[in-house]
Amino acid sequence: MKYSSTRDFSKEYSASEAIARGLAPDGGLFVPCELPHITPLELAALAEKNYPMRAAYVMSLFLDEFSIEELEDYCCKAYSHSRFDGEPAPVVKRGEDLYLELWHGPTCAFKDMALQMLPRLLPASMKKSGQREKALILTATSGDTGKAALEGFCDVEDTEIVVFYPENGVSDVQKLQMTTQRGSNVHVQAVRGNFDDAQNGVKRILNDPEVAAAVEARGRRFTSANSINWGRLLPQIAYYLSAYLDCVRLGEIKFDDELNFCVPTGNFGNILAAYYAKCIGVPIGRLICASNANNVLTDFILTGKYDRNRAFHTTISPSMDILISSNLERLLCHLSGDPVKVKGFMDDLNCKGEYLVGSELKSQIGELFWADFCDDADTKQTIARVWTESNYLLDPHTAVATTVKQKYFTSTGDSRKTVIVSTANPYKFCSAVISAIEGGSASGGVELIDRLSELTGTTPPPQLASLKDAQVRFKGSCSPEDMSQIVLNFLK
Ligand SMILES: *Cc1c(COP(=O)(O)O)cnc(C)c1O
Repeated sequence: MKYSSTRDFSKEYSASEAIARGLAPDGGLFVPCELPHITPLELAALAEKNYPMRAAYVMSLFLDEFSIEELEDYCCKAYSHSRFDGEPAPVVKRGEDLYLELWHGPTCAFKDMALQMLPRLLPASMKKSGQREKALILTATSGDTGKAALEGFCDVEDTEIVVFYPENGVSDVQKLQMTTQRGSNVHVQAVRGNFDDAQNGVKRILNDPEVAAAVEARGRRFTSANSINWGRLLPQIAYYLSAYLDCVRLGEIKFDDELNFCVPTGNFGNILAAYYAKCIGVPIGRLICASNANNVLTDFILTGKYDRNRAFHTTISPSMDILISSNLERLLCHLSGDPVKVKGFMDDLNCKGEYLVGSELKSQIGELFWADFCDDADTKQTIARVWTESNYLLDPHTAVATTVKQKYFTSTGDSRKTVIVSTANPYKFCSAVISAIEGGSASGGVELIDRLSELTGTTPPPQLASLKDAQVRFKGSCSPEDMSQIVLNFLK
């Protein structure tokens, strides 16, 4: 199983090189050169297995340098009951809707599904590909990735991690989750600016030859824990396969029936994993791409034109507040099979902020995907409705998907079953959820966790409830210009 860059098929890499590097040297993303396939018989056999065994099987299809025993060991540890409260990725039915709950991990967001696995894959990939330097992971976060990466890499040998977050761009719960992080190989820094400032700062550091030389002199090499890393995408394919088998077990579909998924989307990583699951042979129908007011993907899927030249909206679903969906590049690569074309699109995006795909590519995308968006008012209305009708609390990201799923059903009449992918525990976004249920606006910090609990009679996850007593380790903030100095100080 070989990998290449989305922008150049002439060089091939092993899986371990792709994971250790994170990003291809030409700036492209690593993709598998060929996609594996499983037969219906092989799929059916996995119904007897538990989640870690299903995940190990899926990953083994893409990682021929790892033995199945190695992967089973990683998966048993990553998805164990000491890290996940119960099943890692259960499908639940509430009212008429099916939800795939992906937030039972240590940080209460779906990022845990991959970021409990990457810290096992990455050091192993470094060894297998002969890298001697330690990994230095740089991450800019709008909230969920940062904490999940910190928790995953905390005290993992041969790795160090620095997380930058926008000082006023994350929820109070998210901020405390990060600033109270334990571990001797972690550093967390607030940046005075928005998410783009933090993200651009990270990119500047990665492209600065002086910083790279200083880092190398200290025996370290940069890599990424963002979903541009193949090692983060791969573990996500497993839960789509697993959810399919669970829907058969629950009697929602018959084996071989097609199942749709509706995914709240930002960087296009989660929904792309569903596309890979379909490619390898899981009977998946439509992939419904749900966005908030930052609806650049809705427009793209509808028109074939990707246009990031538009206002950026700060919404109550902040993990989807994004104008450049990096993983779309992988989809364009698989569908077109043409790295020159992909490079052209990405150059256009860089220079002009937009690109246009041809009619053939557009219609291929339209057959696989459907897209729509909703604003904050509709999101809150859905949270309130589902709470009243089904006594089930949705976080704002999942509520966006629930709203869009309804729109899909109304406008297409598609009768296939559709699973809504639920990406965060509602207690991570207390103020939006309280305001949706009570009306008005709810301001306040982590004390809102208790308010939400009293209001709904639900129990907050212990790792969030205990935040108010946790000790803050990382204080203060820096300007975007000082970010590289922060990294160098951390290495001393
Ligand atoms: C990251 C995130 C998303 C968006 O996922 P992508 O893979 O970036 O499309 C949606 N919901 C939540 C809660 C997230 O943390």
